[in-house]
Amino acid sequence: MAIKLEMKTCLSCGYNIRPDIVLFQDAMDDEYYRAQQVLTGCDLMIIIGSSLQVYPAAFLPDKAKHLAIINRTETQWDPQAQVVLNCEITSKLKEIKERLQ
Ligand SMILES: [Zn+2]
Repeated sequence: MAIKLEMKTCLSCGYNIRPDIVLFQDAMDDEYYRAQQVLTGCDLMIIIGSSLQVYPAAFLPDKAKHLAIINRTETQWDPQAQVVLNCEITSKLKEIKERLQ
């Protein structure tokens, strides 16, 4: 599933209005560094729906003691993970929700 960004244009100057997200080449904001601190040494990191190919987020699994990765395709972190589920995330999360109810 690809997310399509709609660029809006400023009505006064005609420039594109920047969306409130981190784009490629952007500096990471404070939230990222706070997340990095919080995750360092965590017992378990559950990663859902990420190919873990984009840095610096792809460095984050290194912060956890244990990894559980749920993704449609294999990731570079799979060999270090204690749990790897290669499946369609949407249906798997629905299944988990149903089992928890
Ligand atoms: Zn403008």
